[in-house]
Order: sequence, then C-alpha cells, then structure tokens
Amino acid sequence: MNISAISNIKLEGREFYVKRDDLIDPYLAGNKYRKLYKLLKTPPNKLNKIISYGGTQSNAMLAIAAMCKNKGWKFDYYTKPQSRTQKTLSIGNYYHSIKMGMNHIEVDEILYKNYIASLFLNTNDGEFVVHQGGAVSEAREGIEVLADEIRDSNIDARSIATPSGTGTTALFLALALKEFRVYTTPCIGDVAYLREQMQALHEIPENLIILEPKKKYHFAKPYKEFLEIYKKLLTTGVEFDLLYAPAMWEALLSQTKEKVLYVHSGGVSGNENMLTRYRKRGFNLVERV
Ligand SMILES: *Cc1c(COP(=O)(O)O)cnc(C)c1O
Repeated sequence: MNISAISNIKLEGREFYVKRDDLIDPYLAGNKYRKLYKLLKTPPNKLNKIISYGGTQSNAMLAIAAMCKNKGWKFDYYTKPQSRTQKTLSIGNYYHSIKMGMNHIEVDEILYKNYIASLFLNTNDGEFVVHQGGAVSEAREGIEVLADEIRDSNIDARSIATPSGTGTTALFLALALKEFRVYTTPCIGDVAYLREQMQALHEIPENLIILEPKKKYHFAKPYKEFLEIYKKLLTTGVEFDLLYAPAMWEALLSQTKEKVLYVHSGGVSGNENMLTRYRKRGFNLVERV
C-alpha cells in the first residue's frame, strides 16, 4: 500500500520533519488509515457490515465510511441524538459520511451506554464492531507499518511526536520504535485519563513521553490560541487539523528543543466545520489557502 512522504518545515526558527499521512487519501487518511489497515487488507467478501459509534465530527467515522464504500460493506454508526443543524450542514465529516452511504442511528442519551455495550454481544457473521476512535489491538498492525516506514527513512531525528485522543497511535508507535523517543499530549481529557486509556491496551513503555498541556482544553471547543497556531502552521505549506494538532505543536514548541518528526495524524477534512464554528465566535482571522 501507500508509503507516505516526509516533508521538511520551518517553524519558529526550528526545523521539523512531517510524516505526510494526511496525503494518503482525502477521507481515509492520517492515523485512521493506519488503525484501519488490517480491515483495509481484509477481502471484501469476508465481511458485509461494519458497526461503530461515537461523535458526528469523528475522523474515525469518516474513514470507516470511506472504507465501507470502497469495500461495498454496510456501515451502521450509532451516536447520541444530534441537533437538526448538525444533520443539515452540507460540510464536514458527517455530511461526507452520509454521502458515502453511512447509516446513522441515534440512541437515546439514557440508553446509550448499555446499547453500545450490547453491540459487542450481538454481532452476526460477517459483521465487525470498531471501538470508538478505532482504539483496538488490531490497530497495532497498521501502526507497525508506519513505524517501519519511519525507520527505513533514515532521518537524522531521534524524536517523534503525534497527538493523542485514545493514545492508541502514540502507544503502538512507541512500542514499535524503541530507538526513538515518542512525544504525545492528551487532546481529550487529561494526562491521567490518557495513561488509563493506554494501559488498557498495553503497559506504557519508557520511550513514550506524555507532555502536559499548558492548560486544560476541552475537546473540540474553539480556542483563539489554537487558531493562531493553525494559522502559523499554514504558512509552512502544510495544513494541520484544528482538534488535535494545535495542542501537540504548542507542547512541542514550548517543551522540546531537538529535531522532531511530527506524524501528521490527518483530520484536515474536519477543519471546514471547525472554522465555521470559529467564525461564529467572532474569530474571523483566517484566510484559507
Ligand atoms: C483520531 C485522531 C487522533 C487521535 O488518535 P489516537 O490513536 O486515538 O490517540 C489524533 N489526530 C487526529 C487528526 C485524529 O483524527
């Protein structure tokens, strides 16, 4: 399959490498491509339906929708009830996923937790349930492929960085690349929550370093400083996502000094939607390139 390129960028007088996993595919990109790698290699006739759940801005949802379209698989996606506005937007991950054939099922808030648990108990032959955000041990295979690409590139950097939601990507990357230092930072919840999520998959190795964010950010909330970093990053010629990348870059710029390879985790397709939300809050300072 595709080997992604490595770009050189300059930011605040420092040089960074960027592993361009964002360029793999418009919808099926970033770490979601890596995490779904094993499923992507599955012959179409082995499955007929993927089931998953989570938020309607999710990059995992979009990636699964694109995969299912390519494979001819059905895709059932469960969420809590959504607002009408969200459902009628003609931009963003939700819109594109529906267009690619995703079957969206809303579950009442009170029933949600038990309903999701029941999905794992009632699978039929030919169905596969993907945990929210793709946090599964099956993700390891694809991330090991990414690790091999990094090792084979022979770059003159010994540090890697990638932002965390569930921590699956950073954890498996650190396990596969013992000779590198792997930095990450929590973009959902705090450091303690991230450690807990990782430990559910595997013991955390010593070469994985979790950088503490400057302050407590709430996931997917617009922050002026995130938009500033996003803009600064745009000047390098590479677009990064607005949900995860800003916190990682902020931590990298303030807490590290050495040359780092940033693994682009994708998610750029969700920026349109986020920029609309920034504009609604009066942050009109962005001109898209
Ligand atoms: C899903 C996602 C992450 C988080 O990945 P985890 O493996 O859950 O830590 C980071 N960045 C982007 C753009 C994502 O879509």
